[in-house]
Amino acid sequence: QLSDMWKHADKNKVYMADLESGLHYSLRVEVSKFSTLAGDKLTALRKYVTVLAKFFPARPYLKNLLQSLDNWLRSRANTQISYSDFRNMVDNNEQVPDAVLTSDVTWVGCQGSKSWLRGFPCSVWTLFHVLTVQAAYNDQYQLKETYPLEVLDALRGYVQHFFGCAECAVHFENMAKETMTLVSSMNEAILWLWSRHNQVNYRLAGAPSEDPQFPKRQWPSFDMCPTCRNMVRRRSTWIEGSILDFLKAHFCLQNIATDYLV
Ligand code: FAD
Repeated sequence: QLSDMWKHADKNKVYMADLESGLHYSLRVEVSKFSTLAGDKLTALRKYVTVLAKFFPARPYLKNLLQSLDNWLRSRANTQISYSDFRNMVDNNEQVPDAVLTSDVTWVGCQGSKSWLRGFPCSVWTLFHVLTVQAAYNDQYQLKETYPLEVLDALRGYVQHFFGCAECAVHFENMAKETMTLVSSMNEAILWLWSRHNQVNYRLAGAPSEDPQFPKRQWPSFDMCPTCRNMVRRRSTWIEGSILDFLKAHFCLQNIATDYLV
């Protein structure tokens, strides 16, 4: 039985509320577990904030905040930064005009049927799928200098150094070590993340972390993308070109819904 507070979500859409809630949670909750940021952790944080400033399709107030945070990190050559100084910038206590990161948490596409299911981890996947796709669009129009592994590197560093689920971090690092460095184009980065996410879905099907209302399946489902699969001797295989088109359309700016945003 789902509660009366249940928010309607369309599985064919991406929700900005999930992306913003995830950013708030990562920068104000996960990163805050470390009072001092130094060494590889600081490098990982810098890379994460840089890809957010470059590729997150933010609303203007958040765009300004991400830009100011990235500039601030770049302007500090320090080998260590305190979380409280970083937090001061996240909260915009310096009063950069028109710059805000919400402190509201509203899960929509990532809403779980129980409070402990889905939510933040779902938003991390969603965020990085959006970022790989946005980086590819930027590259196509030569809008920003970028290299194929930039977003995946940032994800790898974030997961390794900040993601609260230690077991997930070990699993992900193993996948990254195996094949991530073979990625040689923006489109391959999109496909790499999609296929690794499906590997994780396969491994976790039926696990205690699975929300029974959102069973782990190979994604996208047939009804979401009928042209993405081929049936060969009663086994379905993916059609890579169609998958790429589907991912680029699903995670594009026009498909990000603004419902339930505060
Ligand atoms: P999620 O898997 O979080 O997916 C979010 C949304 O992305 C889905 O609702 C769907 O719209 C879309 N989606 C689904 N599959 C794909 C795909 N292949 N490509 C693109 N979009 C897709 N949990 C564990 O218990 N053990 C682990 O080892 C583990 N490792 C993780 C590693 C990482 C890097 C992350 C970010 C999370 C990990 N988790 C792990 C959490 C787990 O993967 C799910 O995020 C969590 O169980 C919530 O699942 P969900 O139903 O919201 O769907």
